[in-house]
Amino acid sequence: MRLIYLTLCFPLVLLQACSKDAATTTTPSSTNNPTSPVVSESVPEIYKKIYGASSITSDGTYITIKTTGLPDHKSSYYATTNELYDNFSGTTFAGYQFQKNPNSIASKAYVFKIPVNPKLATTNLPTPLGAIGVSLNGVPFFNQYAGPNQPLTNEITSFDRYWGHPAPNSAYHYHVEPLYLTTVKVTKSALMGFLLDGFPVYGPEENGVLVDNSKLDKFHGHTLATADYPSGIYHYHITSTDPYINGSGYYGTPGTVSQ
Ligand SMILES: [Zn+2]
Ligand SMILES: [Zn+2]
Repeated sequence: MRLIYLTLCFPLVLLQACSKDAATTTTPSSTNNPTSPVVSESVPEIYKKIYGASSITSDGTYITIKTTGLPDHKSSYYATTNELYDNFSGTTFAGYQFQKNPNSIASKAYVFKIPVNPKLATTNLPTPLGAIGVSLNGVPFFNQYAGPNQPLTNEITSFDRYWGHPAPNSAYHYHVEPLYLTTVKVTKSALMGFLLDGFPVYGPEENGVLVDNSKLDKFHGHTLATADYPSGIYHYHITSTDPYINGSGYYGTPGTVSQ
């Protein structure tokens, strides 16, 4: 048995060692739970916090982040055979009784390209339906709408234990606070990810104090120093009330996302 294991694994070990020439870390250990993305050396430290990415590279203008979009936490929307399947029946976001939607989670091939030097746009574009940014675990952020001009209201009950859910195309996403990140992986004051315009997204607190919508501009952000940007940066905050993550469009000029 041990001989077979060695024979199978030895070439793998060599392969991983070779890939270190081009990257600082090795490939993820499992598809559900990537823990160490392949990161090229020119990528600034801050983007390495996106632990759920499969790779993060930079061309000096854009950071390219590839993810599967699969949550690394339990969800009622995983197949019952998946180790992360969650037989959940409690209360979810805003105290609603959880009601499962008919969709399920599938792996995607997201390629997020976000500007490495984000700037205020001269014309602020509205956020589209679909992915508008990427969170630390590689799951996309969606905006405050369920569909064209449809409020999120009727969808909220289908948020799972960690406040995400899948769309009809099986893309899992967060419209609101990613509860697994704010309560298990980091804190409510921490960096949660980036919107496509390159500006960072923070949790519902600032240095441990709750941020409410009145402290934010129409895009749902403000300019202040953060732990990651001590000299100050424009950043969005996720709050518990509509519009949750982003207000009326991108503060900066967005990059692109494909899946
Ligand atoms: Zn949704
Ligand atoms: Zn802030």
